[in-house]
Amino acid sequence: MAADRENERYDVIVIGAGVIGAAVGYELARRGRRTLNIDKLPAAGYGSTSNSCAIIRFSYSTYDGVAMSWEGQHYWANWRDHLGGDVDERGLARFIRCGTALLKKPGGHHEKVIPLLGELGIPFEDWSVEELVARFPAFDPSVFGPPKRPDDESFWAEPTERLLGAVWTADSGYISDPQLSAHNLQRAAEAVGGRFRFNTAVTAIERDGGRVIGVTVDGPDGPEVLSAPVVVNVAGPHSFVVNRMAGLEGTMKIATRALRHEVHHVASPPGVDYEATGCHLQDGDTGIYIRPEAGDNILIGSEDPECDPREWVDDPDHFDREITEDQWQAQVLRLARRMPDLGVPNRRRGVVDLYDVADDWIPIYDRTDLSGFYVAIGTSGNQYKNAGVAAHCMAELIEAVEAGHDHDAAPLTVEGRYTGLAIDLGSFSRNRDINERSSFSVNG
Ligand SMILES: Cc1cc2nc3c(=O)[nH]c(=O)nc-3n(C[C@H](O)[C@H](O)[C@H](O)COP(=O)(O)OP(=O)(O)OC[C@H]3O[C@@H](n4cnc5c(N)ncnc54)[C@H](O)[C@@H]3O)c2cc1C
Repeated sequence: MAADRENERYDVIVIGAGVIGAAVGYELARRGRRTLNIDKLPAAGYGSTSNSCAIIRFSYSTYDGVAMSWEGQHYWANWRDHLGGDVDERGLARFIRCGTALLKKPGGHHEKVIPLLGELGIPFEDWSVEELVARFPAFDPSVFGPPKRPDDESFWAEPTERLLGAVWTADSGYISDPQLSAHNLQRAAEAVGGRFRFNTAVTAIERDGGRVIGVTVDGPDGPEVLSAPVVVNVAGPHSFVVNRMAGLEGTMKIATRALRHEVHHVASPPGVDYEATGCHLQDGDTGIYIRPEAGDNILIGSEDPECDPREWVDDPDHFDREITEDQWQAQVLRLARRMPDLGVPNRRRGVVDLYDVADDWIPIYDRTDLSGFYVAIGTSGNQYKNAGVAAHCMAELIEAVEAGHDHDAAPLTVEGRYTGLAIDLGSFSRNRDINERSSFSVNG
């Protein structure tokens, strides 16, 4: 094995084999690059991807955010074709188009979103509150917000107002199995010559002057140096650790750090089969989002409202993976207000994982000050949906910059493979000014 590896030469090393890392590997391999994805975990998608809610929606606050997500959706809608066929012995991940209802109240997130959906020609319906109730009778259409903690006595106050309605996008939904989707990308990459190494940690970035020349890894065969003229950091919540290895800490205007996030699972209320009939609900009024979950369950995530404590994690290898009673109560009781027939179980169920959060909650898809070293990081709990388009953008960027393009002086514009939309990569620059239009939350 070691002898074989001595003959391995790579054009690109990708650090990470989550959904975005595997997508970057696949995109470059299908373009004829000799790629190697390295991951310290045992299989593709075992990092934060495995616990992703995998929601595909378009409700971002900026033009570029909405454009990316609309283009990104098409990769999931054409998943088999994108992969090059039935490449995976485990089957393909499924895109379940349950639609999104974004609740409307005065001053709500929909005020930013509706004009952008219109501008980009994304199909949507603007529902009155009566239409919302007719479509989803299990929801109480009262205004309960702004979001509060259950120990705030106003949490249980009798509502006096009704929502304005909802913005409905029928083309959104979620992916059945996010870990499987990363494995699909691995198999697609391997089918066109891409390589993967698991149980192998990158421990150092090798450089020669201002240029990256490879990485040092530590795996089953011990420490080893692997050479490549291009290295891409797609390390998810470890992105800042890998940037530090590359000596890049403090060289970017936008930094990334890891944020702990809890997702809970509860059974549908009696008489409701939410798995079969539910939608993705974006409820900025109570501060949660929900979607159908297997086993007739409802998955509840948090929009991280200001009243909730934010738990930043300094060491992404060590954090509390137990669901806490406080956050369980907060998220489940918020849903119980919206769905009055919901039973509140005693047994806590769900997952805990880390977001890789950028200062303005918008990702960084860029080169760095170290030539040949690129980043697809800061995915801020909302870029699963964009794996395909982000990989396309990264491949276009790498090809242009390695061919001599000065991306910092003249940011590249990339054409979406499916929609033809122009994606301005300058808006995902490491050195952008903080984007004040951002929601500064998972809504991006
Ligand atoms: C709880 C939760 C819910 C989310 N919900 C949604 C959602 O509904 N919709 C949406 O669009 N997005 C969502 N996201 C965000 C989305 O899941 C992530 O943006 C996406 O999965 C990130 O993929 P990735 O490949 O960049 O990172 P990861 O999946 O984290 O992969 C990074 C990989 O790098 C490896 N690695 C790190 N350091 C090293 C090293 N030194 N050497 C070798 N390997 C290393 C890790 O082992 C890991 O496998 C959610 C995220 C979380 C945590």
